[in-house]
Amino acid sequence: TPAQPNDNLSIARAARLWPIEEIAHRLGLPGEAVEPYGRGIAKIDLTAMTALAESPRGRYVVVTSMTPTPPGEGKTTTAIGLVQGLQRLGHCAAVALRQPSMGPTLGLKGGATGGGHSQVLPMERINLHLTGDLHAVAAAHNLLAAMVDNHLHHRLAPELSPRDICWQRVIDLNDRALRHLVLGLGGRGDGVPRQGGFEITAASEVMAVLALADSLADLRKRLGRLIVGLDRDGEPVTAEQIGAAGAMTVLLKEALKPNLLQTLEHAPALIHAGPFGNIAHGNSSIVADRIALHAADFVVTEAGFGADMGGERFFNIKCRASGLTPDAAVLVVTVRAMKYHCGQHRVIPGQPLPTSLLAEAPGEVMAGGANLLKQIDNVRAHGLTPVVAINAFPGDHPSEVAAIRELCASVGVRAELSTHVRDGGEGAVALAEALVEATEGVAADTDAFHYLYPDELPLVDKIERIATRLYGADGVDFAPGIRERLASWEARGYGVLPVCIAKTHMSLSHDARLLGAPNGWRLPVREVRLSAGAGFVYALAGDIRTMPGLNASPAATRIDIDDEGNTVGLY
Ligand code: ADP
Ligand code: MG
Repeated sequence: TPAQPNDNLSIARAARLWPIEEIAHRLGLPGEAVEPYGRGIAKIDLTAMTALAESPRGRYVVVTSMTPTPPGEGKTTTAIGLVQGLQRLGHCAAVALRQPSMGPTLGLKGGATGGGHSQVLPMERINLHLTGDLHAVAAAHNLLAAMVDNHLHHRLAPELSPRDICWQRVIDLNDRALRHLVLGLGGRGDGVPRQGGFEITAASEVMAVLALADSLADLRKRLGRLIVGLDRDGEPVTAEQIGAAGAMTVLLKEALKPNLLQTLEHAPALIHAGPFGNIAHGNSSIVADRIALHAADFVVTEAGFGADMGGERFFNIKCRASGLTPDAAVLVVTVRAMKYHCGQHRVIPGQPLPTSLLAEAPGEVMAGGANLLKQIDNVRAHGLTPVVAINAFPGDHPSEVAAIRELCASVGVRAELSTHVRDGGEGAVALAEALVEATEGVAADTDAFHYLYPDELPLVDKIERIATRLYGADGVDFAPGIRERLASWEARGYGVLPVCIAKTHMSLSHDARLLGAPNGWRLPVREVRLSAGAGFVYALAGDIRTMPGLNASPAATRIDIDDEGNTVGLY
């Protein structure tokens, strides 16, 4: 019988985890680098990187997708299935994923650890707290916030301008009431009154830094460069000047060690860091990828949202920061997402999918294919030809799968149906074989991968190149003053940084209603910000919330413990 989403729990409960030391041993990690954190969980000390430095680097694979739709595509699930498939072929393969934020887990989404026979366990530990990394990020972030307000209170030098402080506070929950606050109410001894607010921890620049740092020393440097606000002369003030960077690094020492877990088929899974996919880069950590690449033959990592979003940042921000080059890309599609992109269906979040979306309609698959073709082209813009993974759902029709294959074949791309949710690794063997072949192609044609733009391209042109080449915009409209701000950052030496465009992930454009591959539009950039610690400039195109709210029926209302003390309601 096919696995349904509500089978996830029974499959997970029936699973028998191996001791985490055994997983570490299979991966070839030195025993002294493995720090157990409870049943089936360990942290990997960064000494593993030096210990493994001489071993050859494995193949580096990124999993991305067509433009996300409400019914979901299954990148995480496919990445997990794929390593299980590679394992069935006799390879040592590890999956590297982001750690989910508790905000969405308790809010809308439920867990983010795969599904059916392709899951990472233990799911409730991964989705709630795990080894406390998110809390450590919040503590480091909030320490800096406390020191900023203390700096203001004691009028320390350089003197901060209270209206120009940009360092908010963070918490790993969805809580809209914390978006805008007045701080420092009370008397003279209670701090300087000013406006402030909270963001979700995943939106913290400290989280983006944690994912991009490649050593403790690099983490220390990046934290020192965080900009907290402006002084009275309009000059940026950094965490280094506030004196917080050292203590922040100490608070993050354990959090910089990747977490090691396992899939249902005992493939190693490294779960580490969880930066937002819109205002940040949306990718898991560089240290986890690095350790895994020296230990495994294949490392499969997921980039958040579509190929234009997390995929683009993987190539141009994460790979730039690490210097690592990917060997292959997998683009996840589903029959239902293809049909959704034809624009004829309305899906209401939290309600069952409309029957019209489930009816056999290969013509709609073809019509929605414009989005897939554009995202294939977006991967190719970086020199890699993706392998398309058709993530099989119960109820897909063979004619619709055939339509996807035909579309891919027409542009010279290999597409494989993958039934890893129903069948585990066995269901992903064909996909794994196609992937192995794709990486062999790269070895023959070295240096296929390239960035979308060189470091020295002016910031305005970087934004324009992403908008026109990847999103399909006719051009970019910059709000007044933005070109000047970008020029002033270039004058300060920030011009070499990559850019991260914050827009909706539900469309190639900035307007979530525009499905498929929209034409004849321009990208409006209304604001730019400098993430000097993480090392990118970000441009806001559209309304991006950095503190989500809860809906009228949050997932938390369904989460509870049963009579045996087991967690229920997370799936
Ligand atoms: P993404 O990483 O793209 O956001 P996930 O892999 O987390 O997507 O999948 C989203 C949801 O869809 C999860 O609840 C997952 O269990 C479910 N899902 C994914 N693939 C399948 C499938 N083939 N059949 C049934 N459910 C699936
Ligand atoms: Mg995911």
